[in-house]
Amino acid sequence: MAYVIEGETGKWEVVCGLEVHAQVVSQAKLFSGSSTAFGAEPNTQVSLVDAAMPGMLPVINAYCIEQAVRTGLGLKAKINLFSVFDRKNYFYADLPQGYQISQLYHPIVGEGAVTIDLPDGTSKDIGIERLHMEQDAGKSMHDQDPRRSFIDLNRSGVCLMEIVGKPDIRSPEEAGLYLRKLRSIFRYLGTCDGNMEEGSMRADVNVSVRKVGEQGYRTRAELKNLNSVRFVMQAIEVEANRQVDLYESGGTVVQETRLFDSARGETRPMRRKEFAHDYRYFPDPDLLPVELTQEYVEKIRCGLPELPDEKKERFIAEFGLTPYDAGVLVASKRASEYFETVARGRDPKQAASWITTTLYAVLNDKGLEIDQSPVSAENLGRLLDLIADGTISNRLAKDVFFLMVDTGKDPAAIVEEKGMRQVSDTGAIEKIIDDLIAGNAKQVEQFRAGNEKVKGWFVGQIMRATQGKANPAVVNELLVTKLKG
Ligand code: MN
Repeated sequence: MAYVIEGETGKWEVVCGLEVHAQVVSQAKLFSGSSTAFGAEPNTQVSLVDAAMPGMLPVINAYCIEQAVRTGLGLKAKINLFSVFDRKNYFYADLPQGYQISQLYHPIVGEGAVTIDLPDGTSKDIGIERLHMEQDAGKSMHDQDPRRSFIDLNRSGVCLMEIVGKPDIRSPEEAGLYLRKLRSIFRYLGTCDGNMEEGSMRADVNVSVRKVGEQGYRTRAELKNLNSVRFVMQAIEVEANRQVDLYESGGTVVQETRLFDSARGETRPMRRKEFAHDYRYFPDPDLLPVELTQEYVEKIRCGLPELPDEKKERFIAEFGLTPYDAGVLVASKRASEYFETVARGRDPKQAASWITTTLYAVLNDKGLEIDQSPVSAENLGRLLDLIADGTISNRLAKDVFFLMVDTGKDPAAIVEEKGMRQVSDTGAIEKIIDDLIAGNAKQVEQFRAGNEKVKGWFVGQIMRATQGKANPAVVNELLVTKLKG
């Protein structure tokens, strides 16, 4: 489904590439032993290296390197056995070194790809240009005091991975799917927690537009530091439309960094690239190049968990799920684990349907993640067992489920407590049917004359008499036999 902007002069398409900064999951920072824990008191996690005291030397955290390699493998990317840390010179008070240690000429990870599943059932590969490692900066706070700015260096030196994507994205939806898929891969790998609200994943978005069918790219604008999937999607839409309007009114797009204002639904210039800093990159003389061996990479590859794409294929093959259901379930590692617990030894399609419709509706409604579900996977499994062995009907199971949501109790306990056990006692059901047939001669006649619809009326009467607890299979079988006489 192409995303097209209808202009006065024709149809336009959007061209978009994302640069994602992802904070590496590690106890310590990239070049020091300070803690990376989120939410600590300002400036309590700052070593002399992070504060850039003269004479302090950075020491590479080997675990961070391993996490970057794991991520590269998860992105089906080329791992560069030789990479180099460079100094990117610019001065902000929140980066006291006066430069950021990053990787420009020799990044640790080269080209790869992320596959996104589109709503129409097709999939598309979004190319990865590179993944490089760098330090995060501290945080300047300008809103705490009318005259002074404050600085918190806790984040300074925390390890980031910058994942530079190719300009393969053609719609806000594709950008959203790409970010979600990237986050899902990080979470499966355990290399970044993907919590955008805590800033552990931020996106810079490059947006340009061109006429449908046009080759080559036009000038792009960069939208900086977007911290939610929704904002990224909105920002692309707003910026693409701004550029189309500009071209159509005879203007041109300038290459610049812009800020997305979600409250006003507009983008505004931050700084022009032509005035941008000259970063004067050069290899950091305090750090040796990173040289990895193929054995080291292979060892990490062997330790990789099953990733979403592979898991999706397995769910389709092993459990017979539709690609859509499988895709929904593997999008979250925890949801896929929840599903497997419910599905093992049971009807997998029924398990998938309960999770993706009934359970997800409740979680959405309550704003909960699946690992906060009031109904555990074990209990949902037990509920399906009660349906399978005829203790409750599918309809009653819904009622039991909502009681489970409210109480967190075991379904069998709820069924006993509330007397919801399905009536499969043929004697009791037979008695009700006999009474109905005796008292409704007209309807019996209609049925015998070939009006099948009357059967539904009888079923309704039986369900009413048993408060919905009659076993539908038993009812059907007895009813038809008796009606035929
Ligand atoms: Mn960066």
